[in-house]
Amino acid sequence: MVPRDWVWGSNLRTVLTRSCLALLVATQVAVGVGVFALVEHFLWRTSDGQLLEAVRSLWEHRPAFMQGENSELPGLRPHLTFSEWGPHFGQMVAVSVGRGLVRIYRDDGALLFANGPARGVPDLDAAAVAKILSPGSLPQSMNASSEGQRFHILCLPLVARGQCLGVLQVTNSSEGVEVQLRKLALFILLCSLAALVPGYLWLLWLAHTLASPLERLKQTALRMGAGDLQARTGLGGGRNEVFAVAAAFDSMAVRLQASFQSQRRFVADASHELKTPLTTLSGMAEVLQMSNPCSDPQTQKALRTIEREVERMNGLVSDLLELSRAEEPHPQDVAAVSIHEILDELVEEASMRARTVGCECPAELAVRGPESRLRRIFGNLLDNALQYTPSTGTVCLRAYLSDSGMVAVEVSDNGAGISSDDLPHVFERFYRADHSRARRSGGTGLGLAIVWSLVESLQGQVEIRSTPGFPPEGYPGQGTTVTVRLPACRRP
Ligand code: ATP
Ligand code: MG
Repeated sequence: MVPRDWVWGSNLRTVLTRSCLALLVATQVAVGVGVFALVEHFLWRTSDGQLLEAVRSLWEHRPAFMQGENSELPGLRPHLTFSEWGPHFGQMVAVSVGRGLVRIYRDDGALLFANGPARGVPDLDAAAVAKILSPGSLPQSMNASSEGQRFHILCLPLVARGQCLGVLQVTNSSEGVEVQLRKLALFILLCSLAALVPGYLWLLWLAHTLASPLERLKQTALRMGAGDLQARTGLGGGRNEVFAVAAAFDSMAVRLQASFQSQRRFVADASHELKTPLTTLSGMAEVLQMSNPCSDPQTQKALRTIEREVERMNGLVSDLLELSRAEEPHPQDVAAVSIHEILDELVEEASMRARTVGCECPAELAVRGPESRLRRIFGNLLDNALQYTPSTGTVCLRAYLSDSGMVAVEVSDNGAGISSDDLPHVFERFYRADHSRARRSGGTGLGLAIVWSLVESLQGQVEIRSTPGFPPEGYPGQGTTVTVRLPACRRP
């Protein structure tokens, strides 16, 4: 449905302003047309009434020779017939009404008198005359127009001593009425415009006043969605529904922030508390191994397993700590860091693990952020690329300045890749594509979640593309590419 689409598809201000304006204009047009029609009717009735009055008066006070129609008294000169004096009466009427056509018809429909050419005034035939002369009928009026002029035609029966003699047809010129109507139309138009301008301004103000708290609410929701849990609408003053929603939103934001903070604090505290016993456990296992070098192989194996698992737990706890720290705001005035230097160091570390990594990075690229966070981001990505790519495959780091003014760093490999089912979830905490969670096929599943949080804390974006390859040895065109984009800055 078009109106519904229009209402949902346009912004609130436009919908409010346009629909109220349309309503205002429609009301003004309806009132204007109504007033105009009413006044026009009234003016015509008054004008017709005056004309009728004048004609009636003439008829009542007509001269004596027009009085005794058709009466023939013996011995006297016969009185004039209506056919003889009727034209004289027509002349009297024509002189009295001034402009306009005057006609007199006999009762048989014959035209007895006309003071000028018809000019659009319809002729009366015998039937029309008979109808007007029928008993009880009233003077008739009708509209006609000719040569751009409108006029009323009045037809009234001429009756003397109960005998119908004929019909008088007089046109009432519209000249006087039209002048008044033109003035009225101008007056209505000016009044409408005078009301429309302040009405429109008032509508604009109203739409703005109603929409601005909603706009603020939207901006706050967007900020919260982007991770700024301190965002509030701050709309506490008003009493209408929008302000009530804003107040409810603010209180929800307060609770949400408190819940996030307590969750973060819990993870940080728990990880921190776990560190000490883990260190003790690891130390004890080492002491036991060293103090009993000749113990049986089974005990030696158990001690090595304890040591390995403790190390793994240590890694997990460090990751959890890192994750909770990544969500804390970091100081904004940190120094610019060279991307080239960080990537170079990572390539060197990889070469110590007997892996060759290609690197392509202009020396001038730099971003602003804590160096440890940047090192962790690219370190985690490189770890994944190396871990999930066989030693025969290739791993590459490439950095460049993108069109949007961001520094883009791509970590790509031609390893086994990630299936399209797993790809949307790899940034989730503890998510691993290998659902068996086998020890040899991956870590804890926190590496990419840490990357996501750290990149977000630096106002950047991260994106992953992957094409799973078979066989898993890797070949060109397949594998995984992770792109991190961070705001660029000048190198010091
Ligand atoms: P952690 O990094 O915490 O030790 P992890 O490597 O399993 O453990 P993530 O780094 O978060 O966890 O990666 C999540 C999953 O995404 C991995 O288990 C792996 O299945 C898949 N993955 C990530 N990077 C690659 C890659 N370059 N090639 C293939 N699969 C990958
Ligand atoms: Mg990983």
